[in-house]
Amino acid sequence: MHPVPAPEQPGELIARLRAASRTGRPRSLEWRTEQLTRLRSLLQEHTDALAEALFADLHKSRSEAHAAEIGFTVREIDHLLENLEEWLRPQPAAVPGCPAGSTAYVQYDPLGVVLVIAPWNYPVQLLLVPVAGALAAGNTVVAKPSEVAPACSALLARLIPQYLSRDAVAVVEGGVAETTALLAQRFDHIFYTGNGTVGRIVMRAAAEHLTPVTLELGGKSPVFVDRGTNLADTATRLARAKFANAGQTCVAPDYVLTDPDTARGLVAEIARSVRRMFGSEPELARGYGRIVNLHHFDRVVRLLGSGRIVLGGRHDRENRYIAPTVLADVAAESPVMREEIFGPVLPIVEVPGVDQAISFINDRDKPLAVYGFTAREEVRRRLAEETTSGGLVLGMPMAQVLDPGLPFGGVGESGTGSYRGAHSLAAFSHLKPVLDVPMRPTGPVG
Ligand code: NAD
Repeated sequence: MHPVPAPEQPGELIARLRAASRTGRPRSLEWRTEQLTRLRSLLQEHTDALAEALFADLHKSRSEAHAAEIGFTVREIDHLLENLEEWLRPQPAAVPGCPAGSTAYVQYDPLGVVLVIAPWNYPVQLLLVPVAGALAAGNTVVAKPSEVAPACSALLARLIPQYLSRDAVAVVEGGVAETTALLAQRFDHIFYTGNGTVGRIVMRAAAEHLTPVTLELGGKSPVFVDRGTNLADTATRLARAKFANAGQTCVAPDYVLTDPDTARGLVAEIARSVRRMFGSEPELARGYGRIVNLHHFDRVVRLLGSGRIVLGGRHDRENRYIAPTVLADVAAESPVMREEIFGPVLPIVEVPGVDQAISFINDRDKPLAVYGFTAREEVRRRLAEETTSGGLVLGMPMAQVLDPGLPFGGVGESGTGSYRGAHSLAAFSHLKPVLDVPMRPTGPVG
């Protein structure tokens, strides 16, 4: 019998990845392209297994698994592969303040070894899109999937070493103890997605080594629905975004701000949209998700008492099912308005109009997204100029994640830094100026 090798300790693993970084190989375009291509093959060759793991963890339908996780990550990788060579070209810079004859350019330098810590709600996408960005920037990576989505974590831990060089990416599975052990090590960048409490732990640990961080956090993303908007279309788009993944999406619309008349019409239209999407018994619809575990189930059910249930409300602990639910008559200080909901419950808070909606948003933490439905140009402009958030989307909540050209990230309590496409390259690189000053003639600083 062969003895089972002892698992590699975090220090050894990082030393191995750091040594690989120091060879300079990850810097080459060929290495980056090869790793990204292999990562794409992993996704394409194991689509079925990944979809099954997503169903086991979160009851995700095949179409959602493709649109929001597997195909989504493939599209991101394609975008990186198509553009990387051009983005990496050194950018000439004019240096009129330097001695005559000086030339300069600016280049993206890899940072070294990057730690990516992922959450459970999009367990494939939220691990692999940052990993792809870090590889595109020429780094080596320690990837820590979430233990709360165990089927996806185990599958990715098995597949990644089959596709990617062990000197490029190491997967470390586990929960608090394993992540704490990793955070004690020195990394060159930490990319964390999850809640703000752990975000603070990550930032504190990073401070010990002066390691830069990207924190992709959450919060309560409000939706303002203006008087006079087309309520049928608004409800369809709102319900699609809110009830995808049973509301467990960081950029899900958290609550609605609208006037009392619009609220009544909106509730009726949301009920119609939900029936169209999931039938009269969403519990039986394959396309409707489940709450990830009992801890979150109990937490979300407790929030149902914060208002009058005007749609849904049914829940079943054994199946971790909560129906798509709308709450009316919700007070601004009720429990459902004090924490990120992260479940299929949509409270409607009545406000007289846009002035009060803007004040309501600005009185609270800066959200990951602000959403608006309005036919008025003036209201679009005011939402853009008078509110602060990770992103503002008018007309279609969650559309900001569709295009890798847009930077994705929060501000204040909803996070720091951004990524996707070229923004990932910037997040995982150091922008280094290279200045060449001729020895002769000697200029002003000589
Ligand atoms: P989670 O419980 O899976 O935790 C995230 C990661 O942190 C996991 O890998 C976990 O192992 C690790 N972790 C947990 N406790 C830790 C500790 N004490 N010390 C060190 N590491 C620890 O996921 P979650 O936090 O419940 O995720 C949901 C939150 O994430 C929501 O607030 C949501 O809005 C946010 N989120 C943000 C984005 C975004 O892109 N901005 C995306 C998804 C989720």
